Amino acid sequence: MSVSPASPFRVPSAAAPGFGVYIHWPFCAQKCPYCDFNSHVRHGGWDEDRCLAAYLRELDDAAERTGPRLVSSVFFGGGTPSLMQPETTAAILARIAALWSVDPKAEITLEANPSSVEAGRFRGYRDAGVNRVSMGLQSLNDDELKRLGRIHTVAESKRALDVARAAFDRFSFDLIYARPGQTASAWRTELAEALSLAGDHLSLYQLTIEPDTPYAALHAAGKLIVPDADAALELYAITQEMTLARGLAAYEISNHARPGEESRHNLLYWRYGEYAGIGPGAHGRLMTNQGRFATMAEKHPETWAACVERDGHGLVDVEVLSPLAQADEMLMMGLRLSEGVNLDRLASLGGVRPSTPAMDGLAGLGLLDAISETAQANRPRAIRATPKGRFVLNAVVAELSRSFEPVENPTSSHPSNVLSTPA
Ligand code: SF4
Repeated sequence: MSVSPASPFRVPSAAAPGFGVYIHWPFCAQKCPYCDFNSHVRHGGWDEDRCLAAYLRELDDAAERTGPRLVSSVFFGGGTPSLMQPETTAAILARIAALWSVDPKAEITLEANPSSVEAGRFRGYRDAGVNRVSMGLQSLNDDELKRLGRIHTVAESKRALDVARAAFDRFSFDLIYARPGQTASAWRTELAEALSLAGDHLSLYQLTIEPDTPYAALHAAGKLIVPDADAALELYAITQEMTLARGLAAYEISNHARPGEESRHNLLYWRYGEYAGIGPGAHGRLMTNQGRFATMAEKHPETWAACVERDGHGLVDVEVLSPLAQADEMLMMGLRLSEGVNLDRLASLGGVRPSTPAMDGLAGLGLLDAISETAQANRPRAIRATPKGRFVLNAVVAELSRSFEPVENPTSSHPSNVLSTPA
């Protein structure tokens, strides 16, 4: 295997990555045609008092399951959480602080759309305790925004960025690229403008056609042509080159930041940490003395609220993850990151490590790097997908996980609470 103590990347930490709380806000002003998130439009509005009561009750239930924890991050995602009243955000954060210890340096992020109404609430969110916003700009071209089904304009985006810059120390925004008909030179121009507007973090997602969306139907009918694999790879390479030149290197497939300005909450997912998922459709991963549990809540907002009112939680699926399932998940999440995966932690959680021939084969194709901190070059301590490997990540992970070999005497430790299955 081509590993060397002199490899240019370091072995990522084997320490447990911490504990976060994810709050899912399920409502949007309008459904975007490419979106398969758990988002719902309610033209008649929603009962925010009822939602808040359900969030608080589900938080109480989650805290009973986890026991004491130190919260290192909170993330309000959606949906469009910037449709939430700041008072609702404040009440949720106050309950989190009452139930768990919250790190004074905890990152508290809220996803926002850049309409003028929502930007008008930014200071309210800051006063509620939010210290980072992540805005869905998606394009810096008004015609493209219309094609993406977005209801904001570029001028509104720029005003929202000004408000965010003034209200928060940390902000980020998202763009979608590899859109229908997008050329390399058009993307270079748009990305250059985005980089001139960016703070210390930027998310750049390739458009994907998700099943059961209006875009999927148009695509199947030949009415929506997206760049082919070669064109998409060229756009991805441009993205890596231009962000790196601006000091915003990729730390994950689609996420770019100055060192230290990464999204700590999302790092928790990718480093396979522990998090409580609260709200309709939210997923969680919780450690107990029975192992790691995957939880999933009812997706439909009003049904979720009724479940919480009846049972104290909206969970519809609670599954204990086998060591092998944990290894698969950790590999899939960790290889998204530029820092890669610590193989000792993988062995500790999953009792396995990828075979040397599989790692060799992927390294030979330029899809994987490995590092050993010792001269035992045949036994790497960590692996990471190269940028090319991250572009075909599913295939890389499948090859590695097919090759898993048992490791003798892996160590493992779990906190001590028991998670019961949903009533
Ligand atoms: S605003 Fe975001 S979550 Fe809502 S429909 Fe559009 S892409 Fe989906």
